[in-house]
Amino acid sequence: MHNILVTGGAGYIGSHTCVELLNSEYNIVVIDNYKNSWEESLKSVQKITGRIFKYYECDIKDSEKLEAIFKKHKINAVIHFAGLKSVAQSNIFPLDYYLNNVWGTINLCRIMKKFFVKKIVFSSSATVYGDSPEIPFKEDTKKGKLSSVYGKTKLMVEEILRDIKKSDNEWSISILRYFNPVGAHESGLIGENPKGIPNNLMPFISQVAADILPELTIFSDDYETPDGTCIRDYIHVVDLAKGHILALNKILINNTFDVYNLGSGVGHSVLELVSAFEKACLTTVKYKIGPRRSGDLPMLYADTTKAKKELCFCASSDIEKMCKDTFNWQNKNKSKYYKK
Ligand code: NAD
Ligand code: UDP
Repeated sequence: MHNILVTGGAGYIGSHTCVELLNSEYNIVVIDNYKNSWEESLKSVQKITGRIFKYYECDIKDSEKLEAIFKKHKINAVIHFAGLKSVAQSNIFPLDYYLNNVWGTINLCRIMKKFFVKKIVFSSSATVYGDSPEIPFKEDTKKGKLSSVYGKTKLMVEEILRDIKKSDNEWSISILRYFNPVGAHESGLIGENPKGIPNNLMPFISQVAADILPELTIFSDDYETPDGTCIRDYIHVVDLAKGHILALNKILINNTFDVYNLGSGVGHSVLELVSAFEKACLTTVKYKIGPRRSGDLPMLYADTTKAKKELCFCASSDIEKMCKDTFNWQNKNKSKYYKK
């Protein structure tokens, strides 16, 4: 059985992927510095799967600790989620973002190389396409201008991984560009628990529906889209997690360098998401229309042909299911939200 090191495994996407890895009979070792997560989510992963695994509080920048973990466990491949992810914060604290996301990844790869572990799946993002007008985005779409430091850290890491592969063909690498992950595990035991007021649409809607926040502000309805609100590609986090297993299976068998879009391939507007939430959760979501948010693109969604063809990837959950699972998670974890 392969041993997979999961960095950032206590986080939102990481914890859901840990569940799928364990359900797919992989062994896992998790590291996380809990900067944006809690150890509790790893205990929930054990509860959901009925499987025990080792996890460590460890920063990917901490070479000594990381080496000790590689020494102790025979790692076959790494799934690398650890990173800071706030677009707004990245522009305020660029050094923190470059240090954590770029230098952290370099450090991880150096240590992987030292221990002859040359297989990695990396969490990238649709933000690397910048403001490219070619919608839907294909993996080889010419990139537009990037407006955030966060997006630049993802693009830099992609380039670093490309250069590593060029320099040493033994590496096998899969870069996954996520679109908008939402939803939660059906059990309601793991999900997204943003600290403070959420920046993203789905957790915001869900907190309005639960009366934690008074009202949603929709960032404008004057875009050139059918209902005037922005269109995004929402993907259920469990579908996304399953995509990692497919990518991992491939890098373990083949010696490869791949880039894949992981999205649903379908675009939904803000108003569509609000009304889907109301319908799926039998609730109302109070909203008002406000001004545009700087840097927002009117429309983006993925062309998922490549992931479908090469990985047999399929995002099967629709937006109703995404909304239902989000609300279920939130309702089962009310104390977490109210205590903030
Ligand atoms: P998250 O914040 O829930 O998870 C990231 C985890 O990494 C957290 O548990 C955090 O504590 C940990 N971490 C951060 N820096 C670390 C470090 N130096 N050492 C060890 N652990 C560290 O975020 P997520 O939504 O699960 O995202 C996972 C990855 O996917 C991130 O790299 C993110 O940039 C990327 N991504 C996320 C989205 C999204 O919308 N959620 C979209 C595209 C890409
Ligand atoms: N959005 C909104 N109100 C909010 C948060 C988001 O109207 O409080 C809109 C935002 O303008 C965008 C869409 O919802 O068009 C998705 O935003 P999110 O931040 O979740 O994802 P991203 O813009 O990073 O794709």
